[in-house]
Amino acid sequence: MGLLSVALFSAVMVFPSPAPSPAQQPAPTPPLASSSLPSRPEGVSGSASPVGAQTQQAGLNVVVLDPAHGGTDPGARGTGGIRESEIVLDFVIQVRRALELQGFQVVQTRQGNENPSFDDRSATANAQRGAVFVTLHISSTGLPGTVRVYVNSDLPPLADSNGLIPWDRAQAPFLGLSRTFGDLVQGFLAQRFKGSPETVQAASVRQLRTTAAPAIAVEVSSVTVEDRADLDRMAPGVADAIARGATTFKPSYVIPSSPGALP
Ligand SMILES: [Zn+2]
Repeated sequence: MGLLSVALFSAVMVFPSPAPSPAQQPAPTPPLASSSLPSRPEGVSGSASPVGAQTQQAGLNVVVLDPAHGGTDPGARGTGGIRESEIVLDFVIQVRRALELQGFQVVQTRQGNENPSFDDRSATANAQRGAVFVTLHISSTGLPGTVRVYVNSDLPPLADSNGLIPWDRAQAPFLGLSRTFGDLVQGFLAQRFKGSPETVQAASVRQLRTTAAPAIAVEVSSVTVEDRADLDRMAPGVADAIARGATTFKPSYVIPSSPGALP
């Protein structure tokens, strides 16, 4: 990926590219969003639409959910045949429902067994305004029954002389907000899943690096369980923690409306 740039001075995430091709765009949300929200191409701000005008000025409205892996990439695999790429889709259905109950619009980076690129997934998030991004993994390590939240490690913004920051530093201006969001979600997870950390951790997470929004990775342990029902039982608690985290985070995410402001 070249120096596709993020406009540092604006939170309106309209990128020159790489917008996903129409075939890769997430399908409209059935049935709620398809009846209440017009579909619009990625990369185009929704502020011109009447619905957008109502819902997009209040700040955080959209949660982009990224079921990791998929397609030819099964992700982590357990000895019992458990595939990370399948389980995360099941989790995301429940996370989505919990978020929609809290009034969030949910956009998914994949609906089925596809494998969009890292950049395609980030582009889905970066095309939204007032969004947070959650990538969901089932790890092959860690104490089964625990959940960890990660934010990207520190990234120097590397802004060029035009005030533009490169695509692969898109996360840099959002790291503080990502930590705030991550700590909230991790806190709710720790209450529910004993043995989980109390606070968010930093790691080099490729998917987060190119995402121009508060962004976290949620990693559930683990694919090594004998019975996948042990993982299925965790899904409602994970969904609840993410929805509560997003709801609690919402007031602290004020999207700048004036040029020159940073998130
Ligand atoms: Zn994974």
